[in-house]
Amino acid sequence: MSLETVRKVVTAGFSISIGAAMFGIFFGAGNEQLKSYALTIAIVSLLFTMAVIMKWARCPWCGGSLLRGFFKNKVCPHCKRDLTTGKKKKGHGGRGRK
Ligand SMILES: [Zn+2]
Repeated sequence: MSLETVRKVVTAGFSISIGAAMFGIFFGAGNEQLKSYALTIAIVSLLFTMAVIMKWARCPWCGGSLLRGFFKNKVCPHCKRDLTTGKKKKGHGGRGRK
């Protein structure tokens, strides 16, 4: 699964979870069954999202965790490789000796 897909899944998962929780709070007042149903959806999608993050929010090159700045990182904070292309950031000339 590509990081782009993971980001989309995580965004959708959080949206569903928050949406279901809101639904339960606003429309579930006085209706215990509807409320518990909405909250179950919220918790399940939240757990699902967490599982996706735990499993796939990693650098494809070094396996380092990308929990920090997951949505904005373009370069891995561990190995400094571009998360989509795998190329090292330009600038420092690597370890080559003259
Ligand atoms: Zn990395």
